[in-house]
Amino acid sequence: MQTNDYQPLDRYRQLAEKSPDFISRHTPGDLVFIDVNPAVEKILGYRSDEIIGRSANELFHPKDVGSWKNGTSNVTYSEGVYTSTYRLRHKNGDYIWLETTSRTIRDPLTGELEEIICVSRDVSERIQADRTLARLAQVVEATSDLVLFCNANYQVEYLNEAAIRTLNIDKGRFPTLHLDELFSRDNNSRLLQEIFPQALETGEWRGELPLEPGSIEDRIASVHQIIAHRNEEQELRYFSIIGRDITEQRRAEAEALQYQLNMAHISRLMSLGEMASGLAHEINQPLGAILNYSRGTLRRIQEGTIKDFDKVCESLQLISRQAIRAADIIKRLRGFVKKTEYQRMDFSINETCQEIAQFMGQEARNEGIRFEFQLDPTQPIIYADKVQIEQVILNLLRNAIEAFDGSRDNGEKTITITTRMDAEQLLVEVEDNASGITADQMANLFEPYFTSKSAGLGMGLSISRTIIEAHRGKLWAESDGRNGSTFKISLPKETQHP
Ligand code: ADP
Repeated sequence: MQTNDYQPLDRYRQLAEKSPDFISRHTPGDLVFIDVNPAVEKILGYRSDEIIGRSANELFHPKDVGSWKNGTSNVTYSEGVYTSTYRLRHKNGDYIWLETTSRTIRDPLTGELEEIICVSRDVSERIQADRTLARLAQVVEATSDLVLFCNANYQVEYLNEAAIRTLNIDKGRFPTLHLDELFSRDNNSRLLQEIFPQALETGEWRGELPLEPGSIEDRIASVHQIIAHRNEEQELRYFSIIGRDITEQRRAEAEALQYQLNMAHISRLMSLGEMASGLAHEINQPLGAILNYSRGTLRRIQEGTIKDFDKVCESLQLISRQAIRAADIIKRLRGFVKKTEYQRMDFSINETCQEIAQFMGQEARNEGIRFEFQLDPTQPIIYADKVQIEQVILNLLRNAIEAFDGSRDNGEKTITITTRMDAEQLLVEVEDNASGITADQMANLFEPYFTSKSAGLGMGLSISRTIIEAHRGKLWAESDGRNGSTFKISLPKETQHP
């Protein structure tokens, strides 16, 4: 009988000796260790004989003292068993996290508390991982990026603070919030047909997809990354959707564009005065012709040398053709002055160069300057703001003409305009054989208000560069400082219309 009783107890003892969990018995109240299994050494660093007789109270982390007994948040109680998570000091001084299940043993007759039995496990790693996760969650919550999680049915399950604020979402909404409420109909179908399938295939999508403006009041936001999360069986668990409030960025872009438009407008007005003399000359020609035709016709009618109507019609046709030419010149002037928005269109760069050169023709002829053209025979069409590009070429031609002021008075004065399109870019060059640009001048050429001319404003090149850079191109100058200079514009491939 005794033997039978002894055997299970013996087995329990063996189990306790081998258990990786730390098993201990304590006195009630002061929690003195009465007995411990060998796992104590692995977990707390003490041998059994070093710890038996000491109180567990000595080893509690100052912040956890009492929590074990008082049933604070780290302690749960169910069916006579307490489970608590707390820190205990290791022999080496470090604190380790333990999860302890404890049970009280009472005298069956008197009900008096006799001892407490604890089974403890080192959960430092788990606590560490939980804390890392909690920190990550705080980062997601606090980031200024918009973060949303949605499940495989496109139900939004989580929005961080920035998303709630920017998208103006009622907090109580999100268990029922469907993703399609956050995008326009078109963008929603793009999301379903193109973006989610790509995220599923490669794990991630990057790009730009505007969030529904209606729900954002005066904010502008867009999604720039979507990540597909799968479980171990490779089934989709959820999508992370990451976006940004781009209101400020858009505002800055709009301001920059406005500044650029204003600059272009100022520049056009500045050119106007100089253009007026060229225009006066151009308009003089058709006006002179009109005067000549009408005087001649009138005289011949009075003298009786014109008898039939056909001759009169012929003269009137000539007169009206000249009047149309004059009107065209005026129209061009008005088009030049009008403040247009930044507007891209397809146009022929060769034709534009020729038109501007024609426009500057009289000024050039007055100085004995000849224009030469080396234009790309493929007649490239570019997609850009025509008025602004005209403005730049006009500036370069005017500068080239003015560069001859006092130079090469006896030699040949030439301005060569070149256009060249290749696979990467379009090049436009304006080359003169005046006296060139010194190294000192070269350093400041594109600075606003830099001018070497008594009546110059020094804005032309700076505005021109702004315009070209707005087209993602480059404008620069090359010169050996003696034999003329070349101004080069390169416009990227995207300027070539698809
Ligand atoms: P502005 O013509 O009003 O002076 P710009 O910005 O057009 O202002 O040009 C700045 C300066 O760059 C000019 O004053 C001149 O000294 C120099 N420059 C521009 N183009 C040429 C050129 N083709 N040859 C020599 N110098 C030039």
